[in-house]
Amino acid sequence: MADLELPTANSAPECAEDGVWLACIECGAVHAPYEGPVYTCPDCDSLLEVRYDSYPTFDDFSGRGVWRYAAALPFDEGVSLPEGDTPLHRVPRLEADVGVRNLRIKHEGMNPTGSFKDRGMTVGVRVAQELGVDRLACASTGNTSAALAAYGGRADLETLVLLPAGKVAAGKVAQAALHGARILEVDGNFDACLDRVQDLADRGEAYLLNSLNPFRLEGQKTIGFEILEGFYADEGRFPDRVVLPVGNAGNTAALYKCFRELVRGGDLAPGDVPKLTGVQAEGAAPMVEAIEEDLDDTRRWEEVETRATAIRIGNPVNAPKALPGIRETGGTAVAVSDEAITRAQRDLAEEGVGVEPASAASVAGLRELRDRGVVDDGEDVVCLTTGHLLKDPEAAAEAGSEPEPVPNDTDAILAHLAGKSVGGGLLGRLRRLL
Ligand SMILES: *Cc1c(COP(=O)(O)O)cnc(C)c1O
Ligand SMILES: [Zn+2]
Repeated sequence: MADLELPTANSAPECAEDGVWLACIECGAVHAPYEGPVYTCPDCDSLLEVRYDSYPTFDDFSGRGVWRYAAALPFDEGVSLPEGDTPLHRVPRLEADVGVRNLRIKHEGMNPTGSFKDRGMTVGVRVAQELGVDRLACASTGNTSAALAAYGGRADLETLVLLPAGKVAAGKVAQAALHGARILEVDGNFDACLDRVQDLADRGEAYLLNSLNPFRLEGQKTIGFEILEGFYADEGRFPDRVVLPVGNAGNTAALYKCFRELVRGGDLAPGDVPKLTGVQAEGAAPMVEAIEEDLDDTRRWEEVETRATAIRIGNPVNAPKALPGIRETGGTAVAVSDEAITRAQRDLAEEGVGVEPASAASVAGLRELRDRGVVDDGEDVVCLTTGHLLKDPEAAAEAGSEPEPVPNDTDAILAHLAGKSVGGGLLGRLRRLL
């Protein structure tokens, strides 16, 4: 096991406030947390990380949801809808089919706006209040905008969201619109939207709440605490592996930070840290490329395409934090086809777990890694499903069964059902193979 320690000493520098400060992951420079908005290192422009003067243990946690983990967060409470406390589903048929000792699904689609982004926003918007900013902004493939619109609305702050025109699933745009964000449709992809919103933030026009903002990741860290606590409560041990879809790699970075903090707090042995395993769509896989070619950072993919719109990202901003997380936990990264993603979306839905395409990538990736023999049949695996089925109703309808027109007549309906009882099942199975 490689170095899982946090890189700087655990004592607060001068600039800390209430035992919280920001540190550069590259040059180690430290910065005051709430003096003004700061997203990247003022000295070298690398990513910043939130640091604390103490590390959490499981005994420090009480209450429910994200704020249960206040001991590992910069504040004790925040603008809450409330978020977190998502289910850790058992999926016995899928578990047997994939062939692992345990397969659990951490369904983040069950958050208030239907994705894990809510966990980051409850903390991020709390920090925005501390800074006293009056306008929030993000670039988004959809879910970040839905979450920011809801939390910004709740906090009574003006909210701007920049979306790639024509590339965002219907449910997500509808949420952002109804929660009262101003939606700016940019003629470009997600990475272009992020470039624009970073410019706006640099010019002081808005407070940036993409996962480049280190406070977002503090909220998302709580997914890791919940997985470890939930799995341990059921099985008396921690899972061997966490498999998750990767877009900007914020979650990968956040889970890694969660694990490192628990190792430093003494409650997680370095040998018990789950292997972080990232999954991308074949058409948008710069992280997989970086892992396979052992790069320090990703190469920007100018053209990206996949049905899994939430992870259609060519320039993952958190790669410098996430790549070490994958490597140092002994994990890996894998790319899957859109067909494999759709199959996994169906597999999950058949066990009652409704997820959007990007979310299903985790299960598709696990299947691929089982086929390759990378994942062992004795492993305890948790797959993260990041967003709810209804986020992308078009994709769900396409992946699901066709409606069957019937006459308005009970006998005719019974005849229809009798006629289709064998053929329908067969046809359904055939259609799935195609
Ligand atoms: C944002 C998002 C992702 C990507 O998460 P990162 O932290 O950017 O890697 C994956 N799935 C869904 C549904 C999302 O909304
Ligand atoms: Zn720096």
